[in-house]
Amino acid sequence: MTATTVFEQIRYEQPAPAVARIMLARADVRNAQDKQMLYEIDRALNVAMHDDGVKVVIIGADGPHFSSGHHLKDRSQVGDFGPPIMGVGGYRRPGQEGHMAMEQEVFIGFCWRWRNMPKPTIVQVQGKAIAGGLMLVWPFDLIVASEDAQFSDPVIAFGVNGHEYFVHAWELGHRKAKEMLFTGDAISAQEGKELGMVNHVVPRDELEAFTLDLAKKIAKQPPFGLKLAKLAVNQSLDAQGMYNAIHSAFGLHHLGHANARILYEAGVDPSGAPKIRKEAREQAATRP
Ligand code: ZN
Repeated sequence: MTATTVFEQIRYEQPAPAVARIMLARADVRNAQDKQMLYEIDRALNVAMHDDGVKVVIIGADGPHFSSGHHLKDRSQVGDFGPPIMGVGGYRRPGQEGHMAMEQEVFIGFCWRWRNMPKPTIVQVQGKAIAGGLMLVWPFDLIVASEDAQFSDPVIAFGVNGHEYFVHAWELGHRKAKEMLFTGDAISAQEGKELGMVNHVVPRDELEAFTLDLAKKIAKQPPFGLKLAKLAVNQSLDAQGMYNAIHSAFGLHHLGHANARILYEAGVDPSGAPKIRKEAREQAATRP
């Protein structure tokens, strides 16, 4: 272990030969993500990518819920947890400039970087993955969900189009993406599978073992073949305009933030947080 591989908010595990597992370890706050957690995930992925003994990486989470999204009270700054990764700069600039730079670094920047890492990644999801929580799901290659998993992005209540890594239409198809965003409702694991967003739905108590078996099966393949297959699929999406679409939506996202800054002197509509918390509670009450 070096200073860069000591983690406080995640765990880095090797549950089987050639398989690394990164676990979000803040169940007490439903794995709400702050900048420290995101930098730790990024460093852990780096460790896995640079270790030639690792062929597949699993991302999972402790507790009943995968991730409740951004930690809304996170006041830390880019640079507090090591040097910035994406080379954007201007993180402390006033106005919309610093806000946009921060999100270019830790949200859209990290997501795109993780999506393009060369080794296969599998995410195992239980309980809720809300808004920013989806940004720890969608960048990865395969999704295994337990039967209780729910995926939602209710941030229209904040006056923005959706979370920063805007791949909703690619993940769900354009009609379901619009319904999910317009209503704020969650997509169940089974719906996700029917839409092609989820690879497998398994009972909650089989999630970890099923995902590990899938990782071990993939790890038997030659690593260069895996890398080339991943590149080929990603490049197929890129050829359809995925990268440009994400960045076009990111511009709209910051129009929403800037509008809220003018209207409310805050980055989002302040009436959004209680609405989203209420919706999350109601979804929990009405959905299995
Ligand atoms: Zn944002």
